[in-house]
Amino acid sequence: MGIKEQVYLYSPVFLQNLLTTLYGYQLQRDRYGPVYQQRFQELMDKRAETIDVAADQLKRLNEFLLFCQHHSPYYEALFAELNLQLPFEKLTDLKQIPPLEKETLRQHIGSVRTDLPAPIIGKTGGTTGKSIQVHYTKADMQIRMAHLDYFKATHGVEKGMRRISFTAQALVSEHQRTPVYWRMNRALNQLLFTVKKISPRTMTAYLQAIDEFDPESIDGLPSAMIELAYHAKREGIELTCRPRAIFPTAEMMTREERQLIEDVFHGPVFDQYASSEGAPIVSECRCGQKHLHYEMGIIELEADGEVLVTSFDTHGTPLIRYRVGDRMTSSGKTCSCGHLGPVIDSIDGRKRGYLIKPDGQKVFESQLSSLVKVLPNSVERVQYIQNSERDITFLYIPDWTRFSSEHEQQLYRFLKTLLGADMQVSLRAVQEIPREVSGKTLLVKQMMA
Ligand SMILES: [Zn+2]
Repeated sequence: MGIKEQVYLYSPVFLQNLLTTLYGYQLQRDRYGPVYQQRFQELMDKRAETIDVAADQLKRLNEFLLFCQHHSPYYEALFAELNLQLPFEKLTDLKQIPPLEKETLRQHIGSVRTDLPAPIIGKTGGTTGKSIQVHYTKADMQIRMAHLDYFKATHGVEKGMRRISFTAQALVSEHQRTPVYWRMNRALNQLLFTVKKISPRTMTAYLQAIDEFDPESIDGLPSAMIELAYHAKREGIELTCRPRAIFPTAEMMTREERQLIEDVFHGPVFDQYASSEGAPIVSECRCGQKHLHYEMGIIELEADGEVLVTSFDTHGTPLIRYRVGDRMTSSGKTCSCGHLGPVIDSIDGRKRGYLIKPDGQKVFESQLSSLVKVLPNSVERVQYIQNSERDITFLYIPDWTRFSSEHEQQLYRFLKTLLGADMQVSLRAVQEIPREVSGKTLLVKQMMA
């Protein structure tokens, strides 16, 4: 923990609120500067125009590749070796550049890095256990913020509206016992809730604070929203807030969990995919379709569904055809909402991984999360832990008002069918699923990688 965090955590609550606001103003300058303003305006203005998406992407791609050639030693050498002729004449020319594997990036991270000041650090890691630090410039960050705010604006949410965010930041001292687990950032009119203090003992206080603040939008880690929503249902707590939209980030959720959040918090959920590794943003429109923000980059789908991302707004650690580790499908259909970005039908493996069967076959999250459909409402949350090749621990939080021993047998049968007879599966009913250091709750904990 840095000195700043220590000072913060040992300050009284009113001072913590002040520090949160001051930090908010600093972030505001970094994130909402001139580059942000310009891109946000561009996106808003463009809504009425007809755009040739491929031509627009090609132009941005060429600018980005030229930038990489001039500022990144790795790409300068690679392009020379490939005898690449820039600018490209068509988007498919991009295939002349080989995919960038995580391992390659890790080994060459120093020479991929450009000569630009890029003080913002993002971490990659995910399910593989490999951790790579990537750098972003302040301008890169402002472009991301502009696209996120544009996404929110299309759902009627503007900057400055009352906003609640669930964050994994500490915010609250370990020693604090009074039930004030939130801090106000007046710079953004944002009430921050730390997910680290959410427990059966504190959840009612969280829900009351949400209702009192009466948010116009809610965002952040969905696992927190889900836990609170279950608690509200269990305790019969009826919220009066009516947010215009709810924007979960960073974790995948099932259809049922999404429905639950909408029911309890009384607002529509719109999902987004914004990998911390600098993949272009994919966000959901009012028709429920997921669109690529094509101004931010290119997503190529390999035959097996794995994606390669080229991200135009990675000027610190440029990513070209980077195998980010996620899978998507796209049927190339269009949408009537007016967003011109290609429609992505599904996104899989969002940082939460898979189980590996002894024969090497992977069982992905979408299959694993379908389990709860077998037992509607009698299981609140689950976690799969793969301890070794043939050993899986399955944790679940039963809703004791509905759960019976018969359900446990059903669970066991389902898991055996899904994972095969070779796999040892032990089931354990628990009160809560432990959170990771990051504050997230994982569906799959892969200990084998
Ligand atoms: Zn759409």
